[in-house]
Amino acid sequence: MDDLEALYKQVIMEHYKYPHNKGLLDNDKYKKVHLNNPSCGDDITVQFIVEDGIIKDIKQDGHGCSICMSSASVMTDVIMGKTVDEAKRLIQEFLDLLTGKEIDDEELMDALVYQGVSKFPARIKCAGLSWKAIKKGIEED
Ligand code: ZN
Repeated sequence: MDDLEALYKQVIMEHYKYPHNKGLLDNDKYKKVHLNNPSCGDDITVQFIVEDGIIKDIKQDGHGCSICMSSASVMTDVIMGKTVDEAKRLIQEFLDLLTGKEIDDEELMDALVYQGVSKFPARIKCAGLSWKAIKKGIEED
């Protein structure tokens, strides 16, 4: 394993062990989207609120593999505080990155480490699940 790979692994494990914005709220003003990935057993719910065109708050909860759960934590960090349009762009960039496209947008922050997932097709769905959930919620508005 090279140093870069070790760094990737460290970022993923940090978010897995200490997930950000985990736990759902009992609040009707939040939009909630639930998605699962039967091939791995990942199951995730994303909850968010948009005010004045800005994604003001995001929560996530569920269970699954380290790639899926860490990615949900990273997603909340990247998307929180963004406008709906910025969020759509960043989500698309992340989904493109998972399929091996060269993306180096600094706004993706820790999400950039998931570039390595493109080498493991079975894990692409894991990494993309929470991002697809919030994408679905945004597009339904
Ligand atoms: Zn998974």
